[in-house]
Amino acid sequence: MTDPADTPTTIDGGPREGALIASRRPVSPAAPPTRRWRNWAGNQSCRAQVLRPTGEPELRRIVADAAAAGHAVRAVGTGHSFSDVALSDAVLVDLSELGRILSIDPESSTVVVQAGARLHDVFEALWTRGLAFTNLGDVDVQSIAGATQTGTHGTGRRFGNLSSAIVAMRLIDGTGEVHDIDAVSEPELFAAARVGLGALGVVSTVTLQVSPAFNLHAVHEPRRVDEVLEGFDELVGDHDHFELFWVPGTGWAVTKQHRRNHDRPSPRRTWERLAHDELCDNVLFGLANRVGRSRPRLGGALARKIPSPGRQEYNDRSYRVFASPRRVRFVEMEYAVPIEATVTALQRVRGLVDRLGYPVSFPVEVRTSAADDITLSTASGRDTGWIAVHMYRGVAHEEYFRGVEAIMADLDGRPHWGKLHFRTAADLARSYPGWDDFQELRARLDPHGVFRNAGLDRVLGPIRATARRA
Ligand SMILES: Cc1cc2nc3c(=O)[nH]c(=O)nc-3n(C[C@H](O)[C@H](O)[C@H](O)COP(=O)(O)OP(=O)(O)OC[C@H]3O[C@@H](n4cnc5c(N)ncnc54)[C@H](O)[C@@H]3O)c2cc1C
Repeated sequence: MTDPADTPTTIDGGPREGALIASRRPVSPAAPPTRRWRNWAGNQSCRAQVLRPTGEPELRRIVADAAAAGHAVRAVGTGHSFSDVALSDAVLVDLSELGRILSIDPESSTVVVQAGARLHDVFEALWTRGLAFTNLGDVDVQSIAGATQTGTHGTGRRFGNLSSAIVAMRLIDGTGEVHDIDAVSEPELFAAARVGLGALGVVSTVTLQVSPAFNLHAVHEPRRVDEVLEGFDELVGDHDHFELFWVPGTGWAVTKQHRRNHDRPSPRRTWERLAHDELCDNVLFGLANRVGRSRPRLGGALARKIPSPGRQEYNDRSYRVFASPRRVRFVEMEYAVPIEATVTALQRVRGLVDRLGYPVSFPVEVRTSAADDITLSTASGRDTGWIAVHMYRGVAHEEYFRGVEAIMADLDGRPHWGKLHFRTAADLARSYPGWDDFQELRARLDPHGVFRNAGLDRVLGPIRATARRA
C-alpha cells in the first residue's frame, strides 16, 4: 500500500516532499554540503546539512558533535508538518535510513520500530501477524517518530492519538545521552516525550501498543449539515470512528462512519475506489483548485460541481479505510477544542466562511479524540473535538486561518503542533496544566539548546536559564 504522494514524483511542477532541491558550498571542507529541504506542502523550507544516520551510534554522535560545536540539530520524518517545527539552519537529521521494524509480539500486541519507520510499512507488517494500529489519521505516509512527536490523531471518541499508543521509547537527549523511557522507569519524561515536538531529544525507537487486526465497515454519505450537527453527540457516541466534512458555501456535509468488526470484507470494486479516491478527490479537485488560484469564484464553483459518489458502503481492512491518498497539496490549520465545544466551533467557522467574501474550496473537517495523559498532547486531560481548515497551496490563507484561530482561542482551543497557527508560548502556556513540567524537562535534557529552532522559540519560548545553569 504505497501512497504515490509518498513517491518521488513532482506534483504541480513543484518540489518533491522532503525534497533536497539544491546544494551549495560546504560549511567547512570536512562537512557535507548544505542543501535546501522542503516540506510536503512546500510552504516551509530551510538550508541545512542533511545527515542520514544508519544506526543509533551514528545518531548519538551527530547529536553529541553538534552539542560540542554549538550547532542546532532537528530530526525530520517525512516533512508532512505544515508548521516550521522541523526546520533547522544547521543540521537536519533525516531518519529515513532508520526505518526498520525491530520486533512484533502478537502475544502482548506490541511492536518495536525504529523512529523513521513509516506508518504504512508498519501497518502492513502488523497485519501479517494479525495486528493493526488501533486508530490512524487520514494518511499513512508519516514516520512513526514524526507523527507521534506532534500528536497525530485520527477520529473516534474512545480512541486516543497515535502518541497515546506509545508504551516505551528510546530518546537521545541534547548531550548525546540515551534514555530508555516508559511509564515506570521515567514517568515524568514518559508523560512529556511522547509529544515532544522534537524538543526533548531525538527519538531512536518506539514501542507501540497495537490491537488485534480488525476491519472497518464504512458508510460515507452526503447529509444536511444542520441535521448532522443536531445529532452530533449521538453520531459520535454511536460509531467507533465518526467524522464530517462540511462543504463551504453549501448546507451539506459528507459524513464518514466507521464500525470495527471481524466480518468478511466486502471492499469497494477497483473502479469505484479509483473513481472516487483518485478521479474526484484528487484529479478533478486538484484541477478546480488550480483554476481557483487565479480565478477563485470559478474554482470554487468547479469544486462544488465535482460529482458526489453519493452513499458508499463497504467493509475492508482497517488500514485501507482509515487512510487515503492525498495528492492535492494544501496548507492546513487544525484546532483541538473541548469536545462539548465542537458544534459551536464549527457553527462559528461556518459564519466566518460566509463573511469572508471569497470561496473556500476545501471542506472543513471535524473529528474527535479521547483524552490522554501526555503533557503537551492537544488532547491532554480532555476529550477533544477537532476542527481543521485547509487552503490550496499558494492561495492566500492568513485572513481565513487567523479568523478561525480567534474562534478557537475563545473556546480554549489548542493548535495541532504540526499544522499552521499563529500562537506563541506566552498564551499557549495557559492551555496546558503541565507546561512548566515540560519546560523543566526541556532545560534538563537540552541544556545547550541543541534542539532549538525559530519555530520552537515561538511556541515553547526560550529554554529556561535557571535550569540551563543547573
Ligand atoms: C496530507 C497530510 C495529511 C495529514 N493528516 C493528518 C491527520 O489525519 N491527523 C493528524 O493529526 N495530522 C495529520 N497530518 C499532520 C502530520 O501527521 C504531522 O504533522 C506529523 O508530525 C508529520 O509526520 P512526519 O513524519 O512528516 O514528521 P515531520 O513533519 O518531518 O516532523 C514533525 C516533528 O517531529 C519531529 N521529529 C521527527 N522525527 C523525529 C525523531 N526521530 N525524534 C524526535 N523528533 C522527531 C520533527 O523535528 C518535528 O518537530 C497530515 C499532514 C499531511 C501533509
